[in-house]
Amino acid sequence: MTAFSLEPAQLAWCAELRTLAAERLRPLADKGEPGHVNRALVAELGRLGLLGRLFTSGALDLCLMRESLAYACTEAETALALQGLGAHPVHAHGTREQRARWLPRVADGTAIAAFALSEPGAGSDAAALELRAEREAATREDRASAAAAPTAGTAFAPDPEAAPGLALSADSAPALGTAPAADPAPTADPAPATNSAPTALTAPTAATAPTAATAPTAEPGRTADPALTAAPDGPARWRLTGEKCWISNAPEADFYTVFARTAPGAGARGITAFLVPADRPGLTGRGLDMLSPHPIGALDFDAVPVTADDVLGEADRGFRVAMGTLNLFRPSVGAFAVGMAQAALDAALAHTAGRDAFGGKLRDLQAVSHQVAEMALRTEAARLMVHAAASAYDADSPDVPRRSAMAKLLATETAQYVVDAAVQLHGARALQRGHLLEHLYREVRAPRIYEGASEVQRSIIAKELYARQEAR
Ligand SMILES: Cc1cc2nc3c(=O)[nH]c(=O)nc-3n(C[C@H](O)[C@H](O)[C@H](O)COP(=O)(O)OP(=O)(O)OC[C@H]3O[C@@H](n4cnc5c(N)ncnc54)[C@H](O)[C@@H]3O)c2cc1C
Repeated sequence: MTAFSLEPAQLAWCAELRTLAAERLRPLADKGEPGHVNRALVAELGRLGLLGRLFTSGALDLCLMRESLAYACTEAETALALQGLGAHPVHAHGTREQRARWLPRVADGTAIAAFALSEPGAGSDAAALELRAEREAATREDRASAAAAPTAGTAFAPDPEAAPGLALSADSAPALGTAPAADPAPTADPAPATNSAPTALTAPTAATAPTAATAPTAEPGRTADPALTAAPDGPARWRLTGEKCWISNAPEADFYTVFARTAPGAGARGITAFLVPADRPGLTGRGLDMLSPHPIGALDFDAVPVTADDVLGEADRGFRVAMGTLNLFRPSVGAFAVGMAQAALDAALAHTAGRDAFGGKLRDLQAVSHQVAEMALRTEAARLMVHAAASAYDADSPDVPRRSAMAKLLATETAQYVVDAAVQLHGARALQRGHLLEHLYREVRAPRIYEGASEVQRSIIAKELYARQEAR
């Protein structure tokens, strides 16, 4: 990509994707049941190789896919994006076993993923989430099996409740089988993105491969205390209790990336990400009916059992997993919005060029043609900002949070403006049930709220600006 345009091959790919969306995905979307996961559609995305690309390509490719699919089939776009959102934490932070079990099925569309962060009392303020992960004492069997043969991928998290002599202090016991933290002190702000994109779906990275060692070593600079480095007290176990709300793909997903509170009162530092298969006992859910039909629901956790094997990344470091995922996906929400804006713009062009009015066509009225020009201007500006943010992510730039926030903010607000203007230019027909613009008018609203409302994006941008100014 040059500074201002895509390469010819990228443009050709986008055109191919728009055709696929219109000819192969649109018919499947039309056969789906509104408000429910459309498994046939997801499977087709898998057959086309698009789901696999979620894990092998970068942020810009993700944006190109989302914009192109959105142009002709928002349902396909959303299905693709939700697989990525739910499975990215597994891809980026999962153990060898977690990745091997789930990622191939996400990629071929036979397993549905979901990202469960929001709660009724914690939306924008995600660090205030309250879904409780309460530690359970290890059973005698756990202790026996842990002492006899710790399995690869079994992670032992520190257990502050463990018997004296066996307990590992929280800061001396990194969980085995999890990626070491890049930043030892995450804050409530979006953490720098983890931009590395391993190419093989199932091949573990060096950071995620469990080692043969079973006893955590002491941190550099600290003296190993034999009492603290004894065999762990069996795999850590928690019970999840509480509620999640507005979770896309719930309650029909096959697994959930669930963010739960493991350290009460610790804010963003006390959250752990868990991979929770949908068939865990105590996990139930119900669908929610939204303005624009969307597979989405609420989840109830009634003492749902999870173990250290289900942890994604490190215990108490899950907020970083969530924010890293959002840094990748925010520009692509902008791309989704740009795809909808372009579809609305093209519809407005076609309609105003053909509609008879006042002895000519609507386009002959300068007020109309200037409106169309304004729509095109804003759509192109939003597209460029989305591409710039995605390219910054792929280049591992230090300013990813600010750029991602800007791209999402500008593109989603622009799409709302463009779709609304296109409705106006179409007149009453745009509001008839089943019209493309009636669909887009409902569909375009939510992205200004989810993955950080527009106001939250402004706060991120301002905070980054002042931090930069202070650092000068
Ligand atoms: C279609 C859809 C799909 C979704 N999918 C998922 C999903 O898959 N997983 C998931 O975890 N969540 C999902 N969500 C939830 C979404 O992330 C939340 O709705 C969002 O974070 C906002 O939270 P809230 O709705 O509780 O609004 P609140 O946090 O209550 O905010 C309400 C409003 O207050 C204002 N506001 C909030 N914070 C600030 C601030 N700091 N400064 C100024 N104004 C502010 C904004 O106007 C905001 O819109 C989805 C939501 C929708 C609509």
